[in-house]
Amino acid sequence: MKKKDHHTLISFHIITIFPEMFHAISNYGVIGQAIQKNIVNLSFLNPRDFSKNKYKSIDDRPYGGGPGMLMSMQPLYLSINYSKSLLKDATVIYLSPQGITLNQNNVFQLIEKKKIIFVCGRYEGIDQRIIDSLIDEEWSIGDYILTGGELAAMVIIDSISRFIPGVINTKKSVEKESFYNNLLDYPNYTRPKEIYNMKVPDILLSGNHNKIRLWRLKQSLEKTLEKRPDLLKRKILDKEEKIILHKLKNKK
Ligand code: SAM
Repeated sequence: MKKKDHHTLISFHIITIFPEMFHAISNYGVIGQAIQKNIVNLSFLNPRDFSKNKYKSIDDRPYGGGPGMLMSMQPLYLSINYSKSLLKDATVIYLSPQGITLNQNNVFQLIEKKKIIFVCGRYEGIDQRIIDSLIDEEWSIGDYILTGGELAAMVIIDSISRFIPGVINTKKSVEKESFYNNLLDYPNYTRPKEIYNMKVPDILLSGNHNKIRLWRLKQSLEKTLEKRPDLLKRKILDKEEKIILHKLKNKK
């Protein structure tokens, strides 16, 4: 698709030995469209292209022995430095299970950065000297081990890009979603009004916007109380929410 001349709002450089994996986000859905329109800019550097080894290898054995391989020092070091020279003032993030765990609140810290270089590890990870000298921050997508940083980078890019103006059509649709404001989303229904013996709640067909808003708020609070009470502890409740929550707790 021809790129339209939109102003790029966020740029990601990705250092990966598997750039093709990123087709999963660049070719599909709203993030794919934002990339095509150049609102979100993705570019790649492959450490293999920086390998001075005659076999272009990008892995090496760990000093001190032990299982598995590490990413080779030299190609990774050169590729990160080259990326830093292209994307000036970018934050260099290593995707790592030892990093800050991503959640809906700290996604906003990442949006502020505007330019990010993601370093995707493979094998048993990367040389500590790269972390010490070139990495600004380490980020994780959860307490489990992936085989590489690519999926983690895609998760982070997807979750950040949704908040970039122009990526998702309405700001409201982002604001109503689970975790925004420490509340889970309310139940949603679409046409038809009745199907397979199941009906849409009458209130949603009433046309009364205030009643619908209150019903949705109550549903959100009820679901959060049931499924994720930990979120409510973090939430600053307004007067209306306090009254609804009080009633819900007394009903139990
Ligand atoms: N030996 C490393 C450790 O125990 O901390 C794990 C290496 S892991 C098999 C290979 C690569 O996957 C890592 O270098 C990192 O880039 C990525 N990775 C694995 N789990 C991750 C997670 N939860 N979040 C972000 N990146 C992860």
